[in-house]
Amino acid sequence: MSLTYADLHIHSRFSRATSRSITVPNLEKYARMKGLSLLGSADFTHPEWLAELKRELSPEGDTGIYKTKTGFDFLLSTEISLMYSQGGKSRKVHHVVLAPSFEVVDQINEELDKWGRRDYDGRPIFGKSSIEFLDMLLSISKGIEVIPAHAWTPYFGVFGSKSGFDSLEECFKEKTRHIHAIETGLSSDPAMNWRLSELDGIALVSFSDAHSYWPWRLGRECTVFDLKDVTYANVISAIRKKNIHSTIEYFPEQGKYHWDGHRNCGVSFPPEETRKHKGICPVCNRPLTLGVEYRVEQLANQPEGAAPKNAAPFKKLVPLSELLAGVLKKGVATNTVWKEYNKLLGLGSEFDVLLNVPSIKLAEATDRRIVNAIMKNREGKIKIRPGYDGVYGVPVFGTEPPTHKAQQQDSQKKLGDY
Ligand SMILES: [Zn+2]
Ligand SMILES: [Zn+2]
Repeated sequence: MSLTYADLHIHSRFSRATSRSITVPNLEKYARMKGLSLLGSADFTHPEWLAELKRELSPEGDTGIYKTKTGFDFLLSTEISLMYSQGGKSRKVHHVVLAPSFEVVDQINEELDKWGRRDYDGRPIFGKSSIEFLDMLLSISKGIEVIPAHAWTPYFGVFGSKSGFDSLEECFKEKTRHIHAIETGLSSDPAMNWRLSELDGIALVSFSDAHSYWPWRLGRECTVFDLKDVTYANVISAIRKKNIHSTIEYFPEQGKYHWDGHRNCGVSFPPEETRKHKGICPVCNRPLTLGVEYRVEQLANQPEGAAPKNAAPFKKLVPLSELLAGVLKKGVATNTVWKEYNKLLGLGSEFDVLLNVPSIKLAEATDRRIVNAIMKNREGKIKIRPGYDGVYGVPVFGTEPPTHKAQQQDSQKKLGDY
């Protein structure tokens, strides 16, 4: 059995707050290091990036899979931002779009040109509703898949507390049947989503929304498929039939919107604390930014621990670079961390190291503290100080108070909105 580790929601260097050196060869290089075997192309609505994709990728027959010159698989994907008003409220929702071919992508872009510009950002904004968007795409090809992105984030998630909806039905009305999956996003894991029986028939997929190709971003979440052949149709069919092998998840506490709070006031609350404060910040007396955990509890109709019958299993993992940074007490992008990372990658891909390489083998390559951290990670036993209001959560190692300077610098760059 060969499994496909797929990260289908990433960004090109033409999206805001992205690494300038994102190219197809760099994406491939880091995807291989990570252990991913299928990447989304990112940003196919962007004219320059699309031209680059067409130069760098060749169709594998009519499978809808596009290969690099060195044989790595991509499929065509993008993310789009919709801002509109519906039901008397202003709505802001992001969607991931998967498309079966460059021909279909060209048709999508032709339609989008009637709506507005798409050359100023890899993730352009259109003033159309989710329903109009879905209608337009389905009139081009039934093979197109629309997946609400990072469904729970406060600002741009379909269930977001700020500008989202209370249900898929409320957002998509009679078109809801065309929605087969949602992206759970970094701040929620499948178990949290299982608490909404509305989602019982919906596939829960996870992708990184990476704005760089560094291995602590690319593939930090991914969806694992068990496909006979890797084709676009098989990926879509697995999503539509909810036939997901498993997902790899960031610890939801590490996401930037897990708890509630105010970044500038240094206030961070779990939902029960927020309720005690009636949702008001004790420092500035303004409403707190409600995080994903709070929002899930608001919409949940099932108790904690509930799971639908055919739920795909998932594994929570701290990316190896972040694990090493935590143990070695160094920044994630430092030479010390990179050296250790590359040493361990002598044993296989990052996913191999994190999931499969026996501890005896790990011990031959690195020191005991790191082996212990990898094994703890494998067992899902890493402690995390939860993220809130745009601040990433921080893995906590040992007894020292965790330094989250690097993390704060990270979030100040406002990379993405997951
Ligand atoms: Zn987004
Ligand atoms: Zn405040």
